[in-house]
Amino acid sequence: MLYKSTRGLYREVSAAEAIKMGIAPDGGLFVPSEEVRVSPDQLKEWAGLDYRGKAVRILKEYLTDFTVEEITECVSLAYNTGRFDTPEIAPLHKLEDSLHVLELWHGPTSAFKDLALQILPRLLTRAAVKTGEEATIVILVATSGDTGKAALEGFKNVPGTRIIVFYPEQGVSEMQKLQMITQEGNNVAVVAVRGNFDDAQTGVKDIFGDKLFNRELQDKKFTLSSANSINWGRLVPQIVYYFSAYLDLVSQGVINPGEGINFVVPTGNFGNILAAYYAREMGLPVKRLICAANANNVLADFIRTGIYDRRRLFQKTISPSMDILISSNLERLLYHLSGDDAGRVREWMTNLSRIGAYRIDETTHKRIKEIFWSDFADDSETTATIRSVYKRYGYLLDPHTAVGLCVYDKYTAATGDATGTIVASTASPFKFNASVARAILGEDAVRDKDEFKLLEDLSAASNLEIPAGLKDLNKKQVRHREVTSKEQMRKSVQSILSSQ
Ligand SMILES: *Cc1c(COP(=O)(O)O)cnc(C)c1O
Repeated sequence: MLYKSTRGLYREVSAAEAIKMGIAPDGGLFVPSEEVRVSPDQLKEWAGLDYRGKAVRILKEYLTDFTVEEITECVSLAYNTGRFDTPEIAPLHKLEDSLHVLELWHGPTSAFKDLALQILPRLLTRAAVKTGEEATIVILVATSGDTGKAALEGFKNVPGTRIIVFYPEQGVSEMQKLQMITQEGNNVAVVAVRGNFDDAQTGVKDIFGDKLFNRELQDKKFTLSSANSINWGRLVPQIVYYFSAYLDLVSQGVINPGEGINFVVPTGNFGNILAAYYAREMGLPVKRLICAANANNVLADFIRTGIYDRRRLFQKTISPSMDILISSNLERLLYHLSGDDAGRVREWMTNLSRIGAYRIDETTHKRIKEIFWSDFADDSETTATIRSVYKRYGYLLDPHTAVGLCVYDKYTAATGDATGTIVASTASPFKFNASVARAILGEDAVRDKDEFKLLEDLSAASNLEIPAGLKDLNKKQVRHREVTSKEQMRKSVQSILSSQ
C-alpha cells in the first residue's frame, strides 16, 4: 500500500514515510492509494478478537511495510491495562437499546486522543528506522489542551525522540494546564506562549517552514515531525474503535451481523469522524455519519450548503477542543469524494487560504450528503443536554460528548430515523469538571470551589472514580515554568535541544 498526496504534486510514499513526514511537501495530506475492503466473513472472524487483535488486523491492511510482528508489538505496548483503565480499552455504555455511548477516554490523559497518541510514537520510531533516519526526531506541538498532554504521555521517555509542547498561557483549562506543567519524562519540554492558540500554532508552523532553521537542526542531528491529526499515523488507529464498537453490539446481540448503524461524532479538525468514514468505506455497515459541531459551526453549514466559509467570529465555547474554524482533515474527504481530483482540491484549498472560503461542485456535495448529516449545539444547549442526560440516565457527559447527543436529538427530530446509533464520547467529564458541575449541580455549587473539590463533588454525584491522571495533580511537582513570546519560540526550541 502506497500513499499519495491530496494535492497531487508529490510522489507516492510508503506508510513509514507518510508517518515520518506527517504532511506532504506539496502541502497536501497523505491518503491511501488503494481501497481496503473487509468481507462479512472477515468481520465475523474479527468479532471474536479482543481490542488488540482487531487493531492488528486493521493496521496491517494499511501499514504494509511494517511486519505483523512490529505491528503486534506496537499494539501491545499501546493498548494494555497499564495505560488504559479498562481491558476493553474502548467500552460501550448503553443509554437505550438503540443508543450507546462509545467511551474513548479510558487512556492516561482522559481524552480520545490517547487512542492514537499511545501508538503513534511506537509507529513513528519504527518508521524512522525503516526510512534510514539517523537524527533524533523532535515532535513540535501547538495545543489548545488535549493534544499536548496526550502527545506528552505518548512520547515521554521514547528513545530517539524529544517532544516540545507550546500552549497558550491563557487559553487552556486549569486541569489541562496542570496536566502539562507537571509532565514527567526525560525527553519532554512544555512552554507557555503569551497569546492565544493561533499565536502558538502560527509560531510552530513558522518553525516547520523555516528552511534555514531546519538545516541548522539537521546539522545537530535533529529532525522535526508532527503529532497532530494530519499525520496518517494518528488516523489509522482511530479506525479500530469503530469496528470494535460495531462488533461489540453484534456480540451482545443488540444488532444482527450486517445490520446498519449510525455514528455521531463530536467534531473539530474532522480527524475522528474521518476515521469513521474510512471504516464505512472498508465495509463496516454504517448508514449515516452525524457530524456534531459546537457554535463554531463551519462544518454544519458546509455539509448543508456545500460552501465552506471560515469568515466568521471565532467563538470560545465550553467544548474548547472543537473550537476550530479550519478543519484540516476535511481535505482528505474532499479528495476521495471528488473522485481523487487533486486539481480541484488544490483550487478549493487555495481559495480557503486566499479568501477564507470555497464552494464545492454539486456532485461532490451530493455524495457528502448521502453519507453525512450535520448540525450544531451552542453552549446553553450543551449544558441543558448534560443536565437532562444526567437526570434521565444518571450518566455524566463531558461538554464535547454532550454536543454529540444534542445533535443526535436534532437528527432524529429532523429525519425520524430510528436506526441504532453510537455516539463517540471524546473526553471524560472529569476533565471539564467546572462546566459539568455547573450543569448538574448549579452555579452556586461551583462558585469559589477549587478544581479538586469539584472533582470530588462530581465523583459523589456520579458514583464514578476520578481518573488517576487527574486526581493527584495538585500534589505533583510543577516541572515546566518557561514562558515565551511568539517571536522567541525558535530560541526556546534551540535552548531546549542544546540542554541535556
Ligand atoms: C480533539 C477533540 C475533539 C475533536 O476531534 P477531531 O478529530 O479534531 O474532530 C473532540 N472532543 C475532544 C474532547 C477532543 O479532545
